[in-house]
This record gives sequence, structure tokens and C-alpha cells, in this order.
Amino acid sequence: MAPVGLAEHLDGLTAPAVLVRPRGDGRLECQACAHRCALRDGDRGLCGVRTRRGDVIRAPFGYVAARRIRAVETNTVYHVRPGTQALVIGMYGCDLRCPYCQNWRISQALREDTAPSMPAPVTPAALVDEAVRSDCAVVCGAYNEPLIAAEWLHAVFAEAQRAGLVTGIVSDGNTTGETLAYMRPVTDFYRVDLKGFTDRQYAAVGGRLATVVEAIRVARALGYWVEVVTLVVPGFNDDLGGLRGLARDLAAIDVDLPWHLNAFYPRYRWRDRPRQGAGLLISAAGAAYARGLRYVYVGNLADRVAQLSHTRCPGCRAVVVERHDYRAVAVRCPEGRCPGCGTHLPGLWRARAGPGPYPAAAGSIQKTSQWCPSTS
Ligand code: SF4
Repeated sequence: MAPVGLAEHLDGLTAPAVLVRPRGDGRLECQACAHRCALRDGDRGLCGVRTRRGDVIRAPFGYVAARRIRAVETNTVYHVRPGTQALVIGMYGCDLRCPYCQNWRISQALREDTAPSMPAPVTPAALVDEAVRSDCAVVCGAYNEPLIAAEWLHAVFAEAQRAGLVTGIVSDGNTTGETLAYMRPVTDFYRVDLKGFTDRQYAAVGGRLATVVEAIRVARALGYWVEVVTLVVPGFNDDLGGLRGLARDLAAIDVDLPWHLNAFYPRYRWRDRPRQGAGLLISAAGAAYARGLRYVYVGNLADRVAQLSHTRCPGCRAVVVERHDYRAVAVRCPEGRCPGCGTHLPGLWRARAGPGPYPAAAGSIQKTSQWCPSTS
């Protein structure tokens, strides 16, 4: 049961949607996500936040449910301005229903009695001003599925890019080519969750595997910087053969796609499941390297696999970005080149003008023979 008043409150914080296509039968198709809800007057979409009123679909606009300033790496984004801060915003609602959602109190607020705080009205200019005053290099939409509020995110990102900030989306990938094309002019990176490798797994969260793989392919083709995260969950997708298959699919799109293998820990509806151990993730990382991916990371395991959270040059294997607990503690390639061998490192690296928290440190290149687990 939704908390009284939240849906109505959110309905008052909307604007006419752009991502709409008329269907021949009088319904309006929402194109913001791959559900493509066909709405009649008065209908509400599956996400709960986009509604049809007369001849328009109203979309979320002018508020945030959560905003935090955090290290950009806490979004599991490793090749975008490492070592900088990001303003991260999220809204209410989601197009999927993942039973292990980390942010379920806002993403599922319209389906569950989560007693969330009420939305905070805000303007793009105020958010960007906050980001600039806090010395952020990045503005990021995350927490819920931000693209169900694509028009609002577009307005925020346009303002952010005018201020010289990098912009990015942390998405479940249940999106459309129309939305990716609409967002691309104001968005630099797309960080996407690839939650499983079978249609059955995707049915459990309310999506489709092929849709997400296609979104990754389209986003890369459109020129987004793309990073992919797979949360490995015991009893759900903890199968080495399946993870190998995902690695093969990603490598077929682009071997430079960073792939993050994160360990599940119990939360939301799956609080009774065990934590995911390190062994499978290390094996899957090795398998991914064997299938051609060049940047594979293991996370959510504290410092037990710290070596697998660093970025290594694929040319000489030097550590070019060293991380600790989702923070970059040494960035040795601010211009996107290995200072040791000169190999180009893909991503959005270039530091902003002026002093940053991690000035170039071309010396002290750490090399290790333990950079990669066995590959099979
Ligand atoms: S964003 Fe909402 S209304 Fe639009 S297609 Fe997705 S679930 Fe339906």
C-alpha cells in the first residue's frame, strides 16, 4: 500500500512528457522505458509516476527524492573522472521490481509502505549550483531508475553541462533507443546493470535480457561511455557458465566495456539469502579476461579482493588507478594514458582545469604479478 498522498503529491510535480508516440487506437505510448505502456486518459504507467491526463502524458519534473555528494566511484563507475566527487540524485518509482534493490525505499515507494520522506522541489540551476559549490566534477542520476524521469534529467544535465560538469545515468537498462537518443546530447556516460543471463532471471525482476543487452549495444553505438555491473546473487545468477556467457556477449559489443562483478549482500526481500563469496567472482573475472574484456572489476567484498578493484594498463599491467573501498586513492593517468608505456586507456579521464584532489603522479607505478586470476 503506497503511503497516503505520495502518488498525488508526485502528480503535482510533473511536466508534459516528450517521449510519447500516438498509437492508432487513441492510446499514447510512453517511450521512456521498454515497457512502452499504452495509456488511455487517466491511466498510470507500470512505473507509477508517469500518467496520462487528457492528450498528454505527464512525467516527473522539478523534484528529487534523494541527493548526495559522494565519490564518483560509489556509483560503480571507474573510468569517469576517477578521484572526483559526484552529485547523485534520484527520484521515486521504478520500472522494475528487483527483490534485492539497495534503494527500495524510494524505488518501490509507490508499491510498498516505505514511509519515505516527501519529494523536495528543486530547480536544475539550484542542483547544479550545489554541485559546483561542492567541487563536484560529475552529476549523476541513480538510486531509482532515473530514465522514467528522462525529461527532468535532461533539464538537469543540460544545465550541468553548461557548467562544465560530466553527466551520467545509472540505469537498469530496461530502456529504449528513443530515450537513449534523446538523452545523449546532454549525457556523457551510461552505467547499466546487467542482472542475469536468462529470461527466467529477468522475469523475476520484471524485465527482459535481450532488451538490456540491446540497450548496452545502442548506448555504446551512440557514443556514451558505458560501464556494466552484474550483481552476483546466491541461488539466482551464481553460475560460472552463465557469467562466462555474459562476458562473451559484452566482449562482442566492445572489449573496452568495463565489467563490474559485485557481490550480493542480504537486503530488502532477499534478506534471508547468504552473502556472495569471493571465489566465484574471481573465477568469473578470469573467465571474462579470457574472453577478451580488458577491464574487469570485483567489488562489494571490502578489501578481500582489493587488487581486483584497481585499473591496470592492458599494455604493461601497471596499476594506473588504485582504489580502496570505492574511492580512488591514486590516479596516475589523468590524461587517459599509461604513464609507463603510453597505452591509451578508454574512458572519460581528463581532469578539469585547476588543482584537483588527485594531481598527476606519473612516478611510482605499481606493478604486480597478481593482477588477474586464472582464466578459464
Ligand atoms: S516509464 Fe513508466 S509509463 Fe513509461 S513505459 Fe516505462 S513503466 Fe510505462
